[in-house]
Amino acid sequence: MVLDVGSGAVRTADVVLANNRIVGVGIGLDGDEGIDCAGSLEVPGFVDCHTHVCFGPAGMDALRVPRSARVLSAVPALRTLLRLGVTTARDAWSADAGVRLAIENGWIEGPDLLLSLRQVGTTGAIGDLWAPRTGSLDYYGDPSLPDPIFDGADAGRAVVRRMVRAGADWIKVTATGSIALGSGVHDVQLTFEELAAVVDEAARRGGRRVMVHAHGARAAELAARAGAASVEHGTYLDAVEAMAENKTWYVPTLSVTQSDPEQVPDGAAEAHRESMRLAIDAGVRIAMGTDNPVRPYSEALWELRHLSTAGLGDAGALRAATIDAAWLLGLAHDRGEIAAGKRADLVVLDGTTLDCTAVEERIRRVFHNGVEVER
Ligand SMILES: [Zn+2]
Repeated sequence: MVLDVGSGAVRTADVVLANNRIVGVGIGLDGDEGIDCAGSLEVPGFVDCHTHVCFGPAGMDALRVPRSARVLSAVPALRTLLRLGVTTARDAWSADAGVRLAIENGWIEGPDLLLSLRQVGTTGAIGDLWAPRTGSLDYYGDPSLPDPIFDGADAGRAVVRRMVRAGADWIKVTATGSIALGSGVHDVQLTFEELAAVVDEAARRGGRRVMVHAHGARAAELAARAGAASVEHGTYLDAVEAMAENKTWYVPTLSVTQSDPEQVPDGAAEAHRESMRLAIDAGVRIAMGTDNPVRPYSEALWELRHLSTAGLGDAGALRAATIDAAWLLGLAHDRGEIAAGKRADLVVLDGTTLDCTAVEERIRRVFHNGVEVER
């Protein structure tokens, strides 16, 4: 059975692949070589719009390991994602352009990777580590991961230029503090002028777009008004009109608060589900992102279950993880659904139900760019 993610309909059909493309979907189609998919559901390859593939395993102290260890930790992370059927991922900062090059050259296996390199922000923002004895301490500092700190609109343009020069596909901005660090989640850490300058400069550079880390509602509003493409996390949204009006995508990364609600501040899990309800009611478009390794990469598809139970339902969650995610990433012309002409990124699931409870246990085969992934 084949899922049409656009409508949520499931139908019996043959899917014909040639090289890296889907060339036919219909009844009674033939090819040189057949794969029996009886008792299975074919869905498009999944898209994780918010992951960090080079953060290293949870608990690794980046100060105490050589630089190469952090980068090499991406190898098992990327392999895990691909075997789960994640065929495209947007790195929400951590990987440099060498990681993308390694995948493209086949040195390591992994999903197609869109890079943001680093999360840019103003003085004191997440990533601006500073201590009275040492001053600024940048343990990610490397020419391939440029300095992300800026203040003022002109400096915002300069930081975009630095990131683009080093190979960024997306510009990632932080507008609030973090749940993990436990402070500043309701702050708005940059001005409209600063963020608007970043958005404008990114657009000048090949039409690049901006993703904004924002837990609090005011920062999410600022992101929407300044023209950001997506609000990431959005844990404490209380009004979503600005996002709806500006067609801002919402990447809720529910894994942060829903996979282990004991690990997050009181009320965060409930607030996050309420944010989802507001967004769905207002028609805000939603795309899947996990924010791993907040949870192990092997739990990436838990996000489907969270999206489903937070109000999208199973078909809606699968849509958010495929064609809608492809729309956000500007790739919907190329992938995100099982249709003639689209790229052959496919996942074969055991059983024909859309149930998102334990999709990771149902993966039978994965095709990435027309090639079956070894499992
Ligand atoms: Zn993140």
